[in-house]
Amino acid sequence: MTLLDGISLSQAIRGELASEVDQRTAAGLRIPHLAAVLVGEDGASLTYVSAKVKACEQVGFRSTLLQFPESISEMELLLEVQRLNEDPEVDGYIVQLPLPEHIRDEMILLAIDPAKDVDGFHPENVGRMALGLDAFLPATPMGILTMLSRYKVETQGKHAVVVGRSSIVGLPMAILLQRNADPGNCTVTITHSRTRNLAELCRNADILIAAAGKPGFITADMVKEGAVVVDVGITRVPDVTRKTGFRIAGDVDFDEVSPKCSFITPVPGGVGPMTIVSLLSNTLLAVRRSGR
Ligand code: NAD
Repeated sequence: MTLLDGISLSQAIRGELASEVDQRTAAGLRIPHLAAVLVGEDGASLTYVSAKVKACEQVGFRSTLLQFPESISEMELLLEVQRLNEDPEVDGYIVQLPLPEHIRDEMILLAIDPAKDVDGFHPENVGRMALGLDAFLPATPMGILTMLSRYKVETQGKHAVVVGRSSIVGLPMAILLQRNADPGNCTVTITHSRTRNLAELCRNADILIAAAGKPGFITADMVKEGAVVVDVGITRVPDVTRKTGFRIAGDVDFDEVSPKCSFITPVPGGVGPMTIVSLLSNTLLAVRRSGR
């Protein structure tokens, strides 16, 4: 069994990004600048956004965190988005989801300039991705593809089962795995909460991507001998032995599943760090494409 180590791989890619920043600086080119918008006080969202901002600093990117109170109106947030679209100093930006209930996610996502949409959530980028055109790919599926590629995991002709169909993880993952590309060319089964024979489908997977957000949900009896298992799940589970009062759990029962796998990601330290580094790669792509 080989561990798909997202920490060391993401560090290697951060090193590559940092040297690209050095080269850009030496050539008198712009340093990439990522802005992140956070609304409200949600602890998990603040943790994710802070990690993204810190990662920018580590590779030498500029970063700006824009925090707004939970009470901000949809119109006020749209104006902030407009400001970011027009700000020549900002190459790419993200709006951390979920947003408060009184703000419609789709209204905000539609307002983001697709050329600055480094999360790849704008319908234009989603459509371009689905058609196999140049696009900003959503960071989590992109991070998983990078991981499969760098670890030389064969995907051509394999049966991939994706558990979960969300627009940020499951659905784009399924689209990317079936593309005529490398990594790609999988035969993909996408499953969700209404799927009837999930265990049986999972047992048929050469590559199993678990993105349901249910801790320990994928057990050994659901995994084929020699399968590649990618655990996207991140759930805070109460744990009184920890200072924080919780631990992070994945969707896969790692202890019982890992002995059966050819490759498996740990949680934490698997997909999470790859998601962040993919966001950085997209920001670099944004500045390159802008020609600035
Ligand atoms: P979501 O809640 O939007 O989607 C969950 C999906 O799982 C849904 O499509 C649902 O139909 C499916 N599902 C639920 N129960 C199921 C069942 N019993 N059988 C089959 N499918 C089932 O969640 P999301 O935003 O896609 O995130 C999924 C998980 O991945 C969460 O734990 C989230 O925290 C984590 N996540 C991790 C990263 C990362 O960087 N590692 C990034 C994004 C999300």
